[in-house]
Amino acid sequence: MNVDLVVVGSGIVGLGHALEAASRGLTVAVVEREDRPLGASVRNFGHGCVTAQGDLAYPHALTSRERWLRLAREAGFWAGDTGTVVVARHDDELDVLESLAAERAGEGVSLLTASETDFRAGTAGARGGAFLAQDIRVDPRAAVPAIARRLAEQPGVTFRWSTTVLGVDTGGVRTSRGDIEAAQVVVCVGHDVDHLFPDLAAASGVRRCSLHMLRVAAPGTRLPEASSAPAVLTGLSMLRYPALARQPATARIRQRLTETRPELLELGMNLMFTRHPGGDLLIGDTHAYGPSVDPFAAEPVDQLILDETAQLLGVAALRVRERWRGVYASAPGDFLVSQPAPGTTVVSVTAGIGMTTGLGLAAHVIDDLLAGRPPTP
Ligand SMILES: Cc1cc2nc3c(=O)[nH]c(=O)nc-3n(C[C@H](O)[C@H](O)[C@H](O)COP(=O)(O)OP(=O)(O)OC[C@H]3O[C@@H](n4cnc5c(N)ncnc54)[C@H](O)[C@@H]3O)c2cc1C
Repeated sequence: MNVDLVVVGSGIVGLGHALEAASRGLTVAVVEREDRPLGASVRNFGHGCVTAQGDLAYPHALTSRERWLRLAREAGFWAGDTGTVVVARHDDELDVLESLAAERAGEGVSLLTASETDFRAGTAGARGGAFLAQDIRVDPRAAVPAIARRLAEQPGVTFRWSTTVLGVDTGGVRTSRGDIEAAQVVVCVGHDVDHLFPDLAAASGVRRCSLHMLRVAAPGTRLPEASSAPAVLTGLSMLRYPALARQPATARIRQRLTETRPELLELGMNLMFTRHPGGDLLIGDTHAYGPSVDPFAAEPVDQLILDETAQLLGVAALRVRERWRGVYASAPGDFLVSQPAPGTTVVSVTAGIGMTTGLGLAAHVIDDLLAGRPPTP
């Protein structure tokens, strides 16, 4: 088989590259070791967290937002232009939101009163909040396979499922089902960069970040309609997302948590939830970093997520429907884009924001490749 471009990996980053290449008339083969997308791209909140991104990621997030909304129409999956509500429950959190609103007033950030926050988020006990209008939501388990199906219908696009790429050479890939020749190969294997390019992964500091996630039944309290419910972030999220984390008052949040709730910081908890289109809530998450993923999921970690979410919602307990672990690539920067050999490009989103930025990053990388420029993030 001979194509213009081989894409390794059928997560959102790989599919993004395949979409961009196909839309420019290139022939494309997507090679995926599983029989369907099963990686980080289907295990996440489906949160297009546009507004809270830092300077490099923000333009990719804006492009991705436009791509997601268009793809949803074309490929027939749900994408909600729902925005995000960031819930503040302490004075230091209110201060962060006020300075964010001042900084990004022209970009759809507006402050909410306490009652507006609880009403829009479905929470209890907010002191105030902010609405981030540019943020979107998808149901990752439906959206990502729908994009793959849509792509497979395009002329010149081939999927090789259940096929592992064993090695990448200039001029193509070696797979568990034979060789594929290609002028360009883009490797989008998420956190598994080290399997194919161990030296690049080591030099770039790529590690695995594993996260606890749960799906719980909606509690009996009033919640916004599932299809229009915003994503909900909290004070813990303010420590993670660059546009929030760079506000001066986050130092006070960290200090308060260090003194009162160190276990939340030790687990890297980002207390947040999104509403599944069926009505359930996706809740999480925690962050554990290392070269490999510890397979033993400690129950107290899940219990802490459940307790914190129940308190946020003002309910006594939550009923768990599913639990899972997700893994994503983590490194010092938001993105790894590198050409280890002529015709071979490795692309990985290394900050847990691939649903937010992956489609925009892919458009940028394909632009570079077609223009004959060394690709950049
Ligand atoms: C729990 C969790 C919650 C998250 N929440 C959000 C969120 O709400 N918003 C957001 O923006 N981001 C979120 N993220 C991050 C986001 O999900 C990832 O950044 C993004 O999905 C990465 O996409 P990817 O295509 O690079 O990786 P993946 O989706 O992991 O895809 C990589 C693919 O490559 C395949 N592959 C690997 N090696 C080979 C090989 N040798 N041959 C063939 N195939 C191979 C794998 O099987 C896999 O299908 C979250 C991540 C997790 C884990």
